[in-house]
Amino acid sequence: MSYDPSNIFAKILNGELPCHKVHEDEVALVMMDIFPQSKGHTLVIPKAPSRNLVDADPAVLSTVMPLVQRVARAVVAATGADGIRLAQFNEAPAGQTVFHLHFHLIPAYDGVALGAHATGRADDAELAMLAKAIATKL
Ligand code: 5GP
Repeated sequence: MSYDPSNIFAKILNGELPCHKVHEDEVALVMMDIFPQSKGHTLVIPKAPSRNLVDADPAVLSTVMPLVQRVARAVVAATGADGIRLAQFNEAPAGQTVFHLHFHLIPAYDGVALGAHATGRADDAELAMLAKAIATKL
């Protein structure tokens, strides 16, 4: 399957739609997931167009993964999470719902079960606060 440039993350990347931005550089945009599985669920979205990992340019992966690590550290520092999950889905049967490559960083807290994937919408004020808190730890 080929990349469809009308996907929602492409629209966020080109500024057509808003987001709670944590960080942006030439490689990627980092933003809060608006249907978080836990408090602080953050997405790292490489700017280069690809549907997912399978069709991604290896050069893009090698530049984005250090940022994924930096963001993981910042999310843990900002939220006080006890652990963090890195997730990435490839095509609908594997759970992918937005077809532009992205990496989920999902904080985990002792004794708290992770929420379901892409369900409850978070409060915008809380997302804005978290985006700022994570950005200051980057
Ligand atoms: P996927 O299922 O493709 O791995 O993940 C897509 C993620 O994007 C889901 O976790 C979902 O909550 C999130 N999402 C869907 N629409 C939007 C949106 O408009 N803005 C943001 N920030 N996240 C979104």
